Amino acid sequence: MRPPSRKRPPNRLNTELVKKPRDLLEYVVVHELLHLIEPTHSERFVSLLDQVYPGGREARAELNDLPLSARAWKE
Ligand SMILES: [Zn+2]
Repeated sequence: MRPPSRKRPPNRLNTELVKKPRDLLEYVVVHELLHLIEPTHSERFVSLLDQVYPGGREARAELNDLPLSARAWKE
């Protein structure tokens, strides 16, 4: 691994990217906790999710877009 070049400014962290896994983890926890109240993904479940975690639908869509395969988890 090469030391960082002094000629270039250091890479800026993309704060949104850093934040995303945490948001998604929160969503997963909230989702599972809601299943204690409502066991299925019914309209009631979606309504409760919207109330307690307004960004839940977006988080779910992002989670579904992540390139995680079953094989990756077995290793
Ligand atoms: Zn569920």
